[in-house]
Amino acid sequence: MKRLAILGSTGSIGVSTLDVAARHPDRFRVVALAAGSNDALLARQCIAHRPEHAALADPDAAERLRRALAERGCATRVHGGAEALALIASLPEVDAVMAAIVGAAGLPATLAAASAGKQVLLANKEALVMSGALFMKAVAEGGATLLPIDSEHSALFQSLPRGFACGRAGELERAGVRRVLLTASGGPFRTTPVERLSAVTPQQAVAHPNWRMGRKISVDSATMMNKGLEVIEARWLFGAPLEAIGIVVHPQSVIHSMVEYRDGSVIAQLGAPDMRTPIACALAHPERIESGVTPLDFTALGALEFGRVDALRFPCVGLAREALRRGGTAPAALNAANEIAVESFLDGRLRFTAIAEVVEEVLEKVTIEELACLEQVYAADRDARALAKLSVARRASARGEAAE
Ligand code: NAD
Ligand code: MG
Repeated sequence: MKRLAILGSTGSIGVSTLDVAARHPDRFRVVALAAGSNDALLARQCIAHRPEHAALADPDAAERLRRALAERGCATRVHGGAEALALIASLPEVDAVMAAIVGAAGLPATLAAASAGKQVLLANKEALVMSGALFMKAVAEGGATLLPIDSEHSALFQSLPRGFACGRAGELERAGVRRVLLTASGGPFRTTPVERLSAVTPQQAVAHPNWRMGRKISVDSATMMNKGLEVIEARWLFGAPLEAIGIVVHPQSVIHSMVEYRDGSVIAQLGAPDMRTPIACALAHPERIESGVTPLDFTALGALEFGRVDALRFPCVGLAREALRRGGTAPAALNAANEIAVESFLDGRLRFTAIAEVVEEVLEKVTIEELACLEQVYAADRDARALAKLSVARRASARGEAAE
């Protein structure tokens, strides 16, 4: 029986994780659920799954959850406040932690799970992007096992030799790998005329052609910053140098990524675009279990297409590669600036094409340091957020003046 804690249980990945776990009550027990502020959904999840612990980062929401569960006679212990999430992630009775909080907010709890030596099922790519080498050090020192949830990284993991360990030095070299190739759908604006991109709406940006996901990652897919973050994620998960991480645009999202070996072989992983496959793969690793995903019907697939990334249309990919090249606190700054820019775009305060402009401006202005401790990551995150907010405000007021 594997005992699970799910961080971000009310989100897209969290809900899919509960769906897979509930298909196998003989294998998994949900010990703890945690989220940001959605007390109504967390209450329903607690009543259905009866975890010992539940936590909400928002203390008021936690109080509402406590009352709701007491009224329903549910004995789940409720914890409130951001610190409660790290506590949930390191409970001694937890074996595996699904890290599926979105954004930098997930870093402390994801790190806590790594330091506590848990099996860490990593969806929260931003945590790894921000803290890179420090995160991998926490995994090694804590004796944790890292299993990728991101579909591309799960695909790479599945296309690597059995027994491949994320984070162990020299693994790719030993496996005879020449390159890893991340596939990218190109999102909803792959073929939109470039001059129309500045006028696209949040509603259009979150309407991903192949995947149903949270709003932030959906916008990241539309700008392809998501692929940029995934390049950084691949660097740390697989120990791949930047030049050995390629991107192939593949609009159908059937091939989820590929490993190219020294001898010319390319091994790919295919499947329907449904996150329950990578989730089930990590939950049961190294076994295979039923996930509820509809099998691929090759006769109905039609043609699979492949192409290059259009750097003009998707400047965020180059910005992320550049941040990885600069190293140190640059990826943390990139991530923070992007979070502010995406939030501002979703709130209608920033044009879509200005997301990349804000990130680029912040990366030019922010001080980049070599990474020695976690405090630097949080400081870079704070500084980049402040710079990004100024940049957004300046652009909003310039637009206001232009409109007058
Ligand atoms: P989502 O927006 O649907 O859910 C986010 C979850 O995080 C919610 O449970 C929310 O309550 C919680 N949360 C938000 N802010 C919080 C805070 N301050 N403190 C604590 N909890 C907070 O997002 P998602 O699509 O499920 O994505 C989650 C993570 O998984 C992201 O890092 C994303 O990049 C990654 N991911 C998602 C997908 C996907 O298909 N959805 C695929 C690959 C990777
Ligand atoms: Mg992905």
